[in-house]
Amino acid sequence: MGKALDYQQILDQLYNEIAVLDDPGELASYIPELSKVSTDKFGVSLISLNGEIYGAGDYQERFSIQSISKLYSLSLAYNICGEDLWSRVDVEPSGTSFNSLLQLEAENGIPRNPFLNSGALVICDVLLSKLDNPKQEMLDLLNQGVGSSDITFDTAVANSEKSVGWRNIALCNYIKSYGNIDNHPDDVLDLYFHLCAISMSCRELAQASLYLANNGIIPETQQRVNTISQTKRLNAIMQTCGFYDESGEFSFRVGLPGKSGVGGGIIAVFPTQYAIAVWSPRLNEKGNSFKGMNLLEQLTTITEASIF
Ligand code: GLU
Repeated sequence: MGKALDYQQILDQLYNEIAVLDDPGELASYIPELSKVSTDKFGVSLISLNGEIYGAGDYQERFSIQSISKLYSLSLAYNICGEDLWSRVDVEPSGTSFNSLLQLEAENGIPRNPFLNSGALVICDVLLSKLDNPKQEMLDLLNQGVGSSDITFDTAVANSEKSVGWRNIALCNYIKSYGNIDNHPDDVLDLYFHLCAISMSCRELAQASLYLANNGIIPETQQRVNTISQTKRLNAIMQTCGFYDESGEFSFRVGLPGKSGVGGGIIAVFPTQYAIAVWSPRLNEKGNSFKGMNLLEQLTTITEASIF
């Protein structure tokens, strides 16, 4: 790392430069509730492992984290099942869109990775089988990471997604036909839609993700979420599968493990250094935040520091 970095000054500079860019992206309007969000929203928060909090723009405002939640549900399921988890879901990039059914038939209902909708549905099934109250356990994990108690679901978003959830309903039933969903698809989908509908701010997301930069331990409470080996693997899956069929491009441009969501949020982790979250709801054609990717690319370029 070498030189001492003034992250606040860097975030302010990047925020000011990127906020005014012409953004060709579009809102994820296929979920009606998400199309109500103001397209001008833009925020970023970086939290270092020694607890320093930096932020710019709308970094304290909550938004729908959508598929970023797939990271935390995976952490929880991995913690519970250990390596047995990988008999239910694979760890290969798919090169397909997040809601694709394409590979499931050839691969006997085993999703390519846990960040595809298909893979996340299997993870929800695992959580339903293993936990009495998986919704609450997920919120507890996030609230513990953030040191808060009011992170919760946006029911309007969950219902909105359910009302148009044909593709996810199809995916869940299709996987069930291969015997890789144990619970009733209605229950699996209800959990899935709720996890996608968690609302958090950039500051909270960065804070809640710090354990991934800290060998699996929440720095504030010293609670272990995942083993060191599990944390390595979670970061590896983020690196290879975290950005739909743009995971290679994100790796190429940013050089950090991360996970995006169609609400326009992205979290990225620099193991041993920091976690960062960005939010700007306009998405590029691959479904990733245009400004978010831009900011992260410039951050690792300016600081001359990435995992590579
Ligand atoms: N709830 C979204 C869906 O299932 C999540 C997509 C995403 O953020 O990648 O369509």
